[in-house]
Amino acid sequence: MQERSEETPIYMDNHATTPLDPRVLEAMMPYLTGHFGNPHSVHHAYGWKAVAGVEAARAEVAELIGAESREIVFTSGATESDNLAIKGAARFLRRKGKNHVVTLATEHKGVLESCRRLESEGFRVSILPVEPSGLVNLQRLNEAICEDTALVSVMAVNSEIGVIQPLAEIGALCRESGVVFHSDAAQAVGKIPIDVEAMKIDLLSISGHKVYGPMGVGALYVRRRPRVRLEPLFDGGGQERGLRSGTLAPALCVGLGKACVLAGREMAEEAERLLALRRRLQDGIMAALEGVSLNGDPDQRVAGNLNLAFEGVDGEALINAMPKLAVSSGSACSSAAVEPSYVLRALGLSDEAARSSIRIGLGRFTTEAEVDTAVGDVAAAVTALRRGEVAEAPALGAAG
Ligand SMILES: *Cc1c(COP(=O)(O)O)cnc(C)c1O
Repeated sequence: MQERSEETPIYMDNHATTPLDPRVLEAMMPYLTGHFGNPHSVHHAYGWKAVAGVEAARAEVAELIGAESREIVFTSGATESDNLAIKGAARFLRRKGKNHVVTLATEHKGVLESCRRLESEGFRVSILPVEPSGLVNLQRLNEAICEDTALVSVMAVNSEIGVIQPLAEIGALCRESGVVFHSDAAQAVGKIPIDVEAMKIDLLSISGHKVYGPMGVGALYVRRRPRVRLEPLFDGGGQERGLRSGTLAPALCVGLGKACVLAGREMAEEAERLLALRRRLQDGIMAALEGVSLNGDPDQRVAGNLNLAFEGVDGEALINAMPKLAVSSGSACSSAAVEPSYVLRALGLSDEAARSSIRIGLGRFTTEAEVDTAVGDVAAAVTALRRGEVAEAPALGAAG
């Protein structure tokens, strides 16, 4: 889709962000140019045009997850959605004597840091370990839920290892216990079918730039029946039914809507294609090299994710030795110091094994030829590093 010169690496970091689909950009363009009105202006056609675009997009987002339009709140991204869901629900339910939240050690920072903030406000937070596969232990989750539990937050798909949590089972458990169920679905929406009714999800976070939509927009699904109440994070004009004050960005909302339409139409076929590519990549690498292991459950994972540990190899050095590939180490969104991934550590990997891992994220625009190039580059770089033929380059930060 985009021009790639010798210097532009092959993009295989689709968990950090996905490229904007050209069809999404096309849908956005009118709202970046002619339809510049404020969607909250009710007195003229400029406002009406903008609000029509926003409302059509709201219906498109809702449709993809089996929700109603009025259950969708637009936000700036999944981080904001996580914050609004977790802090919003917990702070509201505190008035009803609920003072406890439950989440997993492998959650995104948007969830973990929101929970940590609640802890500083006097909430009790249970951060549950996961199985070596990366999956939740349902019995443990069940035992963690008690009288004063307000909320359970479990992500749909992990951004590092791609494992898919058993959402319907968690949803059933939460509904039985009268606990609000939030799921960060930034890596799941548009990749696997999500149905908030069947899965009994009460709050669901969505990110535009993880589904081939634009950066800077996301959504939070907020269940109406039975109604989930939230305390807003922002005070202001009361937009988004009082849950998210601030002027909406119509172009971004329309982009997210279009991305959801495309995902709904193409998801099944795309997942099949990506699964074949991922198998080709994994089989190719494993045939060429010894001492390679897969991180995360081999079956319960999204098609585009491959997270591999290379025995005796430093992941950062490996990435630096493959300048033609844009991939990342397990550690995401961390500061300058390269810490071993907390997600991989939570699976029980040693620091060394966690540091020897890289994440390869295939996506909508990945080709078979690119996969074959990647197999060759990974095999050559790992072999060279194991022989001590490559000097360790200075480590660069990772993102996503
Ligand atoms: C990327 C990501 C986020 C953050 O999304 P933004 O829209 O960038 O704020 C949250 N959770 C998960 C699982 C993610 O992959």
